[in-house]
Amino acid sequence: MIDVIVAGGGPTGMMLAGELRLHGVHVLVLEKEAEPARYVRSLGLHVRSIEVMDQRGLLERFLAHGKKYPVGGFFAGITKPSPDRLDTTHPYVLGIPQTTTDRLLAEHAAEVGAGIRRGCELVGLSQDGHGVTVELADGTQLRSRYLVGCDGGRSTVRKLLGVDFPGEPARVETLLGEMELTEDPAALAAIVAEVRKTQLRFGAGPLGDGVYRVVVPAEGVAEDRTVPPTLEEFKQQLRAFAGTDFGVHSPRWLSRFGDATRLAERYRVDRVLLAGDAAHIHPPMGGQGLNLGIQDAFNLGWKLAAEVGGWAPEGLLDSYHTERHPVAADVLDNTRAQGELMSTEPGPRSVRRLLSELMDFEEVNRYLIEKIIAIGVRYDFGGGHELLGRRMRDVELKRGRLYELMHGGRGLLLDQTGRLSVAGWAERVDHVVDVSEELDLPAALLRPDGHVAWVGEDQQDLLSQLPRWFGAAAG
Ligand SMILES: Cc1cc2nc3c(=O)[nH]c(=O)nc-3n(C[C@H](O)[C@H](O)[C@H](O)COP(=O)(O)OP(=O)(O)OC[C@H]3O[C@@H](n4cnc5c(N)ncnc54)[C@H](O)[C@@H]3O)c2cc1C
Repeated sequence: MIDVIVAGGGPTGMMLAGELRLHGVHVLVLEKEAEPARYVRSLGLHVRSIEVMDQRGLLERFLAHGKKYPVGGFFAGITKPSPDRLDTTHPYVLGIPQTTTDRLLAEHAAEVGAGIRRGCELVGLSQDGHGVTVELADGTQLRSRYLVGCDGGRSTVRKLLGVDFPGEPARVETLLGEMELTEDPAALAAIVAEVRKTQLRFGAGPLGDGVYRVVVPAEGVAEDRTVPPTLEEFKQQLRAFAGTDFGVHSPRWLSRFGDATRLAERYRVDRVLLAGDAAHIHPPMGGQGLNLGIQDAFNLGWKLAAEVGGWAPEGLLDSYHTERHPVAADVLDNTRAQGELMSTEPGPRSVRRLLSELMDFEEVNRYLIEKIIAIGVRYDFGGGHELLGRRMRDVELKRGRLYELMHGGRGLLLDQTGRLSVAGWAERVDHVVDVSEELDLPAALLRPDGHVAWVGEDQQDLLSQLPRWFGAAAG
């Protein structure tokens, strides 16, 4: 039997498949579309996702295709310098089109042995105490021990489970596409700058080779968003907002997106889980959705692998919901706030001016940017050391960088005392005796996702925490 079926081969599904394979889990990704999407939604990776790639040895391939930008200005597009002293070795946004991110994650999943079937749409599911039966559009049935719905905002898995998806429907829609145009570049830039004084959902930026990414508010909300807009709709809306259609022609692709904001009530129903857009949707302000999905997968992968491997402690798989649901709720909230701040109404524009002034205070700027780049996420592991529940940043050790030691996706005891032991957990937890000038603590236990599970120097105390995350000792 297959261990885990992942429905949906977008960034969340492929990231998850790669994580599961690190632990030898037999995983099959089912992707509805026969060919990868051509249209580009996400434009980049934020700090925590960049760190995640670094922790798995994947960052080099992303850097080779991306371009580094400052992180300042990502909150509601309010232009500010990057905050000083961000607590990371990667204080930048990596500009990289989603089509490339999707491809790199799919290549990695395939390299590490995930099965990937394109042109396979999940249309039915049922589960019992032993596994899940999945039905495909062609009538085929497949059986697995677990199923994860990474099948996007209109998730079939979520609907079949009957999981509620409360929130707000789309109130406005935006047209987005790549096309050529005949307008003179200087005149174009001047018109765009003028329109953006009162309409922030408007833009036409060059991508090279004469192609532009064009964004313009749609007229109303489409009945069926799966139907792409026409070039004529773009022309009409450009004329309405800019007084000219810039001579747009030869579209590469055309799409539309809305501002619906919704969060699944539960991320798990017995043997079926939800991750990425299947669990949460929100407008693209700040560029967070893909990053959130990748980080969901990073949280879920090792826990589900532990469950499949038979060593998961009680409650570990449920902690996926407990930890990630509040993180998504916070992202939804910040996008709601950004949405208000981008409104053209006089009240919100005044609030935007006020917030812009406040962001001149370094602390405020850093606080808001850290929300977007997700390095401030703290899971509730109970009280204790300030690092407990947070991800540990990369640090230099005598033998190299900490993140280089985490490529295998195992737990890690970073022991600066040299007096500790992982005892019967050596199969699941690496013991690294080393020191770092950047770390003012005796020892820390890191989960496979890099979050700090324990800080201390007492062996008995450590032994009391290891089973909480890594199950019973072997032997
Ligand atoms: C205009 C726009 C700009 C954005 N910009 C950013 C950004 O800058 N940064 C950022 O982080 N995020 C951004 N996002 C959000 C980002 O694109 C999504 O959050 C991300 O793609 C979610 O990944 P996913 O894998 O969860 O879902 P998806 O990418 O939607 O992938 C789901 C996959 O499941 C497949 N599928 C669906 N149903 C089935 C089924 N029944 N059976 C099998 N397969 C199925 C689909 O074909 C698809 O391949 C943007 C979104 C939009 C619309």
